[in-house]
Amino acid sequence: MVDTHHLKEDCDLRQLVAQDLGPAPLHGGRAHLWKCPFHHERKGFSLAVWPDGYRCFGACDTRGDAVDWLRHYRHLSFTAALRVLGEPQPEVSPTEHKRLPAASEPPDWDWQERAARVVSLAEDTLWSAEGEPALDYLLERGLTTATIRSARLGYIPGDFREWRSLEGLEVPCGITIPWFAADVLWAVKVRRAYGDPKYVQIPGGSAHGLFNADVLANHRSALFCEGEFDTLLVQQEAGSLIAPVTLGSATARMTARWYSALIGQQRIFVAYDRDEAGKKATERLLRLSRRFHEMPVPHGKDITELYLSGGDLYAWITEAVQKSIRGSLENR
Ligand SMILES: [Zn+2]
Repeated sequence: MVDTHHLKEDCDLRQLVAQDLGPAPLHGGRAHLWKCPFHHERKGFSLAVWPDGYRCFGACDTRGDAVDWLRHYRHLSFTAALRVLGEPQPEVSPTEHKRLPAASEPPDWDWQERAARVVSLAEDTLWSAEGEPALDYLLERGLTTATIRSARLGYIPGDFREWRSLEGLEVPCGITIPWFAADVLWAVKVRRAYGDPKYVQIPGGSAHGLFNADVLANHRSALFCEGEFDTLLVQQEAGSLIAPVTLGSATARMTARWYSALIGQQRIFVAYDRDEAGKKATERLLRLSRRFHEMPVPHGKDITELYLSGGDLYAWITEAVQKSIRGSLENR
């Protein structure tokens, strides 16, 4: 029988919350105050956290203790939450944490509402006659219509140098890729037909999201891909095996928020492109924690190339995961 009461008493909840949300912006007596992440608070600091509990005095009125925090913010099971509380070394050690930029925040609701309307409009266009060239491009990359629909990809027609004013936002022309996580729209990336850079964003979106993050809750293993289309391809071909996610590029950095979201993952694999930028980015992730493992594509430059040249993503991932499990058992 685990002594839950004791575990909670030994833990200062304010420290635990600071690991997830960064240092408290305000103090009020023993309470430390943050923006409430549960109702995505824009103005004010309604989340009060004491050593033994928290409460939102704003819109959502959520409250609880350390176990509740771990379950609701980090999406841990009850058992996993107790394990975190019982660990002398927290998963997010201060040194690890120092290497990570501060907690990332999603864009404000006004931007999200406008951008969500652009996403819907682009989606309608993709599935109309006007969207045919874009749809053909996506199908040629190996994505199925089911994958394209569930990712809510879309198309803004026009020359690659053009931008459209839609819903009060400046939108580049190309294939739109929305970054949703837990019903929050973090960003809308646009893959242009030509031009450098090929991928641009609708201004106002966050550059610190984690694409496809919602699937993390269903898996104990995650796979970091370099781009969104590779991520969608793994989701399509091997989504039952692993949770594929991406920071969006080899240069994008992980933030403390997403590092916390990965706490439920026993193994985190990295399959970035086989080039200099991909190699550097892989090393950066591997330095974060021993849970990260390299999973290079067996041939081709990246996951899409592997797939299009006849590679079996399901078999490749199954084998790599099993090899890693065997390796860690032998090292015990
Ligand atoms: Zn709240």
